Amino acid sequence: MRQERDPYRTLDLVNQKLDLMTDQVDKNMEIFRRSQERELELLRAADLQALFRTITCYLRESYGLDRVTVVIADPDHEVRHLLGVVNGEPGPLPDVHFVDALTGITPSYTALRQPWTGPFKAADHQLLFPGINGIGSIAIIPLIHQGALFGSINFASPDKDRFTRQHATDFLAHLGVIATFALENVVNRARLLRSGFTDVLTGWHNRRYLQMRLTEELARAARDSTCLVALMIDIDHFKRVNDTWGHAAGDRVLAEIAQRIESQVRASDIAARYGGEEFVVLMPATTTEAGTRLAERIRDAVAASPIEVGGNQQVTITVSIGIASTSPDRSAREFKTLGESLLARSDVALYRAKSEGRDRIVIGGADGDRP
Ligand code: GH3
Ligand code: MG
Ligand code: MG
Repeated sequence: MRQERDPYRTLDLVNQKLDLMTDQVDKNMEIFRRSQERELELLRAADLQALFRTITCYLRESYGLDRVTVVIADPDHEVRHLLGVVNGEPGPLPDVHFVDALTGITPSYTALRQPWTGPFKAADHQLLFPGINGIGSIAIIPLIHQGALFGSINFASPDKDRFTRQHATDFLAHLGVIATFALENVVNRARLLRSGFTDVLTGWHNRRYLQMRLTEELARAARDSTCLVALMIDIDHFKRVNDTWGHAAGDRVLAEIAQRIESQVRASDIAARYGGEEFVVLMPATTTEAGTRLAERIRDAVAASPIEVGGNQQVTITVSIGIASTSPDRSAREFKTLGESLLARSDVALYRAKSEGRDRIVIGGADGDRP
């Protein structure tokens, strides 16, 4: 005999099933919403520093993880260089690891095309998490650009069941795609910014770059209680070169003088083409005496031998240099004004060098003196 179904009981079961499904949909919606939030946060990062911080700090907190690290292949040191150029000193990014090659990071790292989740094995995975102990399970999210792996984002949890071999990886794969896109974006932006800091004629940094670095160096001088010295260098009677041999010859002379100045400048100094035929050298953590010695060497190097101006003709060029220095107070905050004052004082000293006969060095007034 066929058993009669209680229609109410059937309805109840259907309702229960619907409730379960609604719960699941709600949960999925919530996961989706949080994933989207994380991805948006990656896309919002304005520069490399911010993006690396979003990955290593924000994602760590958002996922409730122990650590998030990044491994990036950077064989030409370009990303590291861009990190420095955009923000001056690269801040501490202890969980970002740059490597020259990706082989041997984990046993099959270079073949990674999808996220890998599972138990942490020190022998296989420690290079993803240098110096980090107590890891239970991990997720390795590959970063792939145009089919090639260029690194990974690595999640570490102390809980060995947090990431199992069965863990669903779609959301992690999507996060990897967005992170790659965000990285590409900030790298390109940093490249553009860098080109915007370069003077085409001399290959030197330009005035914009100098102004950015000046503020940073003043902040550092205040923090470390050191003295920052500025040299303002101007070519003497440069207009005559243009007037006599033409603009192109003038350009060649400018480029040659830039090289002669550069040959004397230390790597730790900041040199920039400040204007048409004016150059500035900033010397961090030094003294006016050391600045004066460098100025003497620059003056000698420029005048040491004549410069070709075409048609078998040569011209001997001299420069005048104004020097100013500042030792900002620890409490100093107005770095923009301080920087303007430093350059203005070196310019006043330069003007004096010009009016006293050119081809000479003049040391300007101290901090606090009105330019
Ligand atoms: P002083 O000794 O007083 O500095 O005299 P000066 O002739 O060097 O200075 P002045 O400021 O009168 O002239 C500088 C000239 O430099 C004027 C400008 O046309 C020229 N100049 C500026 N930038 C460039 C450049 O990129 N290429 C060339 N060829 N000339 C430039
Ligand atoms: Mg000038
Ligand atoms: Mg000049």
